[in-house]
Amino acid sequence: MKNLLALAALVLMSQPAVAEDAAKWSLAIHGGAGTLDPAQMTPEKRAAYEADLQAALDAGAQILAAGGSAVDAVKAAIVILEDSPLFNAGRGAVFTWDGTNELDAAIMDGRDRSAGAVAGVKTVKNPILLADTVRTQSEHVFLIGTGAEEFAVSKGFAVTPPEYFATPARREALERLKAKQLSALDVDHKFGTVGAVALDTKGNLAAGTSTGGMTGKRWGRVGDAPVIGAGTYADNRACAVSATGWGEYFIRVGVAHEICARLRAAAEAKLALADERTPSTGVAAAEVQYVADAVMAEVASLGGDGGVIVVTPAGDALFSFNTTGMYRGRATSTGLREVAIFGGEAKASHTPDH
Ligand code: ASP
Repeated sequence: MKNLLALAALVLMSQPAVAEDAAKWSLAIHGGAGTLDPAQMTPEKRAAYEADLQAALDAGAQILAAGGSAVDAVKAAIVILEDSPLFNAGRGAVFTWDGTNELDAAIMDGRDRSAGAVAGVKTVKNPILLADTVRTQSEHVFLIGTGAEEFAVSKGFAVTPPEYFATPARREALERLKAKQLSALDVDHKFGTVGAVALDTKGNLAAGTSTGGMTGKRWGRVGDAPVIGAGTYADNRACAVSATGWGEYFIRVGVAHEICARLRAAAEAKLALADERTPSTGVAAAEVQYVADAVMAEVASLGGDGGVIVVTPAGDALFSFNTTGMYRGRATSTGLREVAIFGGEAKASHTPDH
């Protein structure tokens, strides 16, 4: 009887901790990574970038704090960044060699690993919403070009005129590239792709990424952003990842899935070794950082660069990048709120430049 009472007391005492745990949420966003020169960043420019990052972070955080889903938080954050002309997604997307804006996006729900992606769309204001409609209202994962646009119309998306996406700064970047016969990377090393990853209070993870790709892209080139497993991946057992950078390398490494696969293996090993006396404490933040940095080092070893944002089932939100900067932000239920641009700012960890 005494033992029973003690047990009941223990159960009661442990309830607040369980409730607190259930309210845990976490969000990380990015607005691209690349060679960012602090000297070129005027206070006005910086304030404009930070304001849009903050607005995206706040929109996602508000949904998560109110008990909304990780998928909804990811969409809300990305829509704001797609609507901002500062980032290479939606309005403000880079130009193709032929002077068009071709948009790619993907979203994945870690609860059931349902995923939706679109590539090369020219008339959809918010490609992330179309990607999610592919996920929820089609039998497919990946739709491209005019077919994706037809699907959008059939699902009630408005046809947005191409001029909406075009901005003078991105057109100039294409002109410079053409005038100097440079490669896309020489001109546009500030990538500007956007992404978000989230953990909601029900323990579900989601990841999304949206981009215009690379300046001067030709021949229907598609990067990593809409490729599930390369630029975007979410699995409740492991993590949610969104990437930005030189897409060809991220596809070759399978960056987002590679990070999740390594973290899933680490979590499973801990569970297998756990018993009643030594329960699994999950994968620690330092291990997650190690894995993200190791996979980014693989990208660098092949000659690519860029960065990732990662959120885990434990609620850790972190960054890893091997460029001088990455537009980024994170917010958690523990009160963490930050936006940052250059390496070394805030508490972001990053792998060294190469
Ligand atoms: N990863 C994107 C691509 O290769 C570009 C970026 O991140 O800015 O299309």
